[in-house]
Amino acid sequence: MNILILGSGGRESAFAWKISQSQHTDKLYIAPGNAGTSKYGENINLQLLDFEGIADFALENSVNMIVVGPEEPLVKGIHDYFLSRPELKDISIIGPQKAGALLEGSKDFSKQFMQRHQIPTASSKTFTKETLQEGLDYLDRHFLPIVLKADGLAAGKGVLICTSNQEAKTEFIAMLTESKFGEAGNTVVVEEFLSGIELSVFVLTDGESYKILPSAKDYKRIGVSDTGLNTGGMGSISPVPFATDAFLQKVEDRIIIPTMEGLKKENIPYKGFIFLGLMNVEENPYLIEYNVRMGDPETESVVPRIESDLVELLKGVADGNLHEKSFSISPKTAATVMLVSGGYPGDYEKGKVITGIENIRESMVFQAGTIQDGDEIKTNGGRVVAVTALEDTLFDALQQATADSGRIFYQGRYFRTDIGFDLMSYIKST
Ligand code: AMP
Repeated sequence: MNILILGSGGRESAFAWKISQSQHTDKLYIAPGNAGTSKYGENINLQLLDFEGIADFALENSVNMIVVGPEEPLVKGIHDYFLSRPELKDISIIGPQKAGALLEGSKDFSKQFMQRHQIPTASSKTFTKETLQEGLDYLDRHFLPIVLKADGLAAGKGVLICTSNQEAKTEFIAMLTESKFGEAGNTVVVEEFLSGIELSVFVLTDGESYKILPSAKDYKRIGVSDTGLNTGGMGSISPVPFATDAFLQKVEDRIIIPTMEGLKKENIPYKGFIFLGLMNVEENPYLIEYNVRMGDPETESVVPRIESDLVELLKGVADGNLHEKSFSISPKTAATVMLVSGGYPGDYEKGKVITGIENIRESMVFQAGTIQDGDEIKTNGGRVVAVTALEDTLFDALQQATADSGRIFYQGRYFRTDIGFDLMSYIKST
């Protein structure tokens, strides 16, 4: 098969690494890719929202399957576009159509979906400019803290956790009347704050059956001990030590099965990944959000633990026979450390020469914001390189990934040295 991966981050590098190992893969393309993905396939310069350009490329190069990495092309309807042109009908798209992508594209839709199907989640109420006053009265009476969410895609920035009623009202007004998050904030979901510990569970589905992929936990803050600004993600581990079999069974019974049944009942076709952002509240799972694709950097920890041929599984998604595919997961632990540019998530410089990647032997290196410039690899984004170690124990994986991260150099290099170490206590105490 000829396969095209859309995206350019560490997630797409991990997909490219895994897909290039499949017996089914003939030609692999990554668009636009990065300096690292060219080791696994051919980088193609295509814009992710240029559906016509992607379709032309796919036709000219006999592409059989497109794996969509990020959410935006899905929310904007790439899958629907391919279905709308008869000559593209044999090209499988891994990722939902617009209707399914709304689970991520609209927080209001996803909350209503959860409520319709009795999926445990924080209680919430939705407001628009028309119901501004009603919203302000609601915020006055709301207990603290209060979570405000822009309804639409806001590049991971549309969630505010407010610790006073006044702050919540000020932000609420800024979202609805001053376009604080652009159009995404024209509708605001006000939500109850859930206290617990977060984790993610991933599902791969053909719309009928599903496989539950390994659980993962990511680290969003820039500073050690989860301090400072939010980032796209500074590291991840898989599996999650506090996600016991009993807890994961609750996730399946209370969240995954009702989600799958809900999609079917509402005639929403779904072929692709579902990312469940969960809060573990006293051993009970609550769904914070759906994403309609894999997470980054969770993918860099999850994919190395999948022992099965990923393309075989993706073929099952495309052909609607996923239930026939065997699926095995490594019992080992993966730890991923993300190396970022100095200054990230604020302003940072690009074009710094990266050295040392070639000397890493024990870990996998998934490049993200990198670009090839002649013989040199240079930084080209905030998140530069993900280093993943797969070892028998969490401690060994953390130690290896952290040590190998220190062996990659570029001006301004920064990474967290404490990814996952907070979870060691769960291992000692169980
Ligand atoms: P979301 O974009 O919905 O995943 O929200 C981003 C982050 O905000 C989550 O990963 C949580 O850390 C936090 N968050 C969102 N909703 C809640 C909630 N109801 N209670 C506590 N934290 C939340």
